[in-house]
Parts: sequence; C-alpha cells; structure tokens
Amino acid sequence: MQNHELDISYIINELAEDRDDYFRAISPPIIQTSNFAFKTVEAFRKSFEDEYSTWLYSRGLNPTVDILRKKLAALDGAEDCLVFNSGAAAIFTAVLANVKSGDHIVSVRNPYTWAQRTFEVILPRFGVTHTYIDGTSIENFKAALQPNTTIIYLESPNSWTYEIQDLKAVAELAKQHNITTICDNSYCTPINQKPVELGIDLVLQSATKYIGGHSDVVAGVLCGKREMIERIFNSEYMNIGSGIQPFNAWLLIRGLRTLPMRLERITKSTYSVVDYLKKHPTVEKVHFPFDPEFPQYELAKKQMLNACGLLTLVLKADSINQVERFAEALKHFFMAVSWGGHESLIIPRCAGIKKEAFDPQNQEHRMVRMYVGLEDPDYLIRDLEQAFAAIN
Ligand SMILES: *Cc1c(COP(=O)(O)O)cnc(C)c1O
Repeated sequence: MQNHELDISYIINELAEDRDDYFRAISPPIIQTSNFAFKTVEAFRKSFEDEYSTWLYSRGLNPTVDILRKKLAALDGAEDCLVFNSGAAAIFTAVLANVKSGDHIVSVRNPYTWAQRTFEVILPRFGVTHTYIDGTSIENFKAALQPNTTIIYLESPNSWTYEIQDLKAVAELAKQHNITTICDNSYCTPINQKPVELGIDLVLQSATKYIGGHSDVVAGVLCGKREMIERIFNSEYMNIGSGIQPFNAWLLIRGLRTLPMRLERITKSTYSVVDYLKKHPTVEKVHFPFDPEFPQYELAKKQMLNACGLLTLVLKADSINQVERFAEALKHFFMAVSWGGHESLIIPRCAGIKKEAFDPQNQEHRMVRMYVGLEDPDYLIRDLEQAFAAIN
C-alpha cells in the first residue's frame, strides 16, 4: 500500500472513485437502483451465496454507497464500514449484533438518548441488562463487569458535559475479558479522534452531524474489523434494512470533500467564542474539553487531536424566564437539535424539563448547549453580546 492511501486529501478526493467507470466525471454517479441484473445463472447463484461481495439488491450493497463506505473506513483507520439511514440505526445494529438473551452491557451514563432507549426499553424485553457507570475512571469499568458482560458502550466525549473515557485503557480491559467495545465518536469525527487505533472494536458516529455538514441528511456510520462488519451485514444490517439510500450517500461524499476545512474553521471560531464566554460576567461556567480548566484536559489532549463546535455554558440566572429570554434573544443561533451543519445552534437545557421543575440552584437547569457553525465568529459574538444585554 502506498503512503498516500493514508492521506486525508487522498481519501476524500480520490479513494474508491474509479472515474474510468463513469465518463471521468469528477462527481460520482448516484446509482439510484433497487436491483442489479445478471447475465448467467452461475453469477446470480454466487451473488445469493455471498451478497457481501456483489451488487444484488440495494438494501445490501450499492455502488454509490460503496464509495462512501471505503472513504469512511479509511478515515477511521478501520478495515470496513457500513452506512445507515441514521446514527440511531448504527447504534441499535451494533448493540443488537453483540448481545443475546441473558447478557449484560456496561455503558457510560447518559449516552445518546436513543442508546438509552435501546438499553432501557428494548433490550430488557429480551433479558439483556445494563449498568451505567461514571466512565471517567477505569476502576468503575472494572467494578461493573459481570461474567455475562458482552459489551462496553462508550461515548467520548458525551454531548453536554463532555466527560471522556480513556479509550486505550478501556479497550485493553475489554480484550482481557473478551468483551466487545463500541464507541460513539460523533463529537470528534475521525478527523479529531480515531478510536479504532486505540483498540476499540466498533466505532460509530452520526453522519448527520459533521460528515453531512449541511443539515440536509440523516445518516450513521459503523466501522470495525472486516470479519465483524461482514457478520453484521449478513444479519442485523440486512434484517433491519436501514442502510443509507444512494442519494444520501452522495450527499455525504460531497460533505466529506470539505470536512477538514469546515472543522478547521469551526475549531478556530469555537476557541474565540469560548474565550469570549469565559470572560463574560453573566456566564458562570463553560464546559469545553480543550479548555485547560476542563477536569480531563490532559486525557482529552492525549487521545483527541482537537475539540470543536460543541460547548455548554452555564448562565447566571435567577429564573427560567431569564434563561428563556437569552435563548429567544439570539438572532443568529437557531434554537434546534443536532449540530455539525453550517449554522450555529443552541439548546437550552430547560427546554427538556417542565417549567415548574426549574430550580435556579441547579447548574444543569441553567445550561445552554451551543454549537458554533461556519459563520464569522465576530458576527456570532455580537449576537451573544446583545442577548446577554437583553437579560441583564
Ligand atoms: C445525533 C447523535 C446520534 C444519533 O444520530 P442520528 O443521525 O440523529 O440518528 C448518536 N450519537 C450522538 C452523540 C449524537 O449526537
């Protein structure tokens, strides 16, 4: 293998794009087909026997999707990859493929909502139990393991307070006990963190966020060893039938073209916004993993190349009305879920709780999660300035 195969520029511009096959077009074709035709019975038979090596039906493999799979696997430093119709489908598939009745899962506490629902609502119906732990200490993982533990589920950092796990240490522990590790890498993307290289078995991310990058597609990625990915393809992936559609795969290929430069811009702007917020008298605290005051700053720097986009501020406020006024006064941060697009966003934590339950003593209730997009950072800071003024 030549060295350029590892180059990010090569991966996003050339890898897996056999342009001789399609008129030397720069942009790959969207092969919008459900099925593929065979010339001989023998070839048809072979495809039935091994769908993972052929194009038979687009619930399985599709040429446009395959271009994307190869690029995403290479970015993660993984052998193989499957792409789903959502990040939630990638989570569900990865978990389901590694448990049977009577098994136990150790998960970091507060993983993504739909991971929680998988553990708390769906899997108990099949006798699969779970234990949530504080993942900031490896000792907590050791203490939670049971003889029937088959999965350790990680999300590093998580998406409100950014606790991280020592991925290398957890991977080593899991290997000693023959446990599969799954890590949600949505916050970092493979540009800023490569869990596979730290020993994690399955790495997933919501491609809805940075990979798509334009808030116009919902998708998920699952990467790992070829043997594991092939096993998942032949079973859960085909059965759930939530593989990505060709047009959405094409949008993600387009998103990848600009991923590194978008992240570079977002990172730079995020540091400016964090600096501004940390100095502001109306801000009690800023949660951001690459802030030197972040409790796990050293570990963050060790296993992540950078942090970008997402941060959480704690407002100084005496009432829910003040928090709501701040959120509603912002003109250029949209109030919306998700992140990773061109547009800056906020979610006030109090939108997720009943108004009567608001407790001004509770820092969490005064949290506002913020995503810094591609706008000019000064434009965003001016907007924050007027919103702070509106509540004081
Ligand atoms: C958004 C998100 C997901 C789910 O992805 P969808 O594409 O929305 O299904 C999973 N994990 C994290 C951390 C997320 O933020």
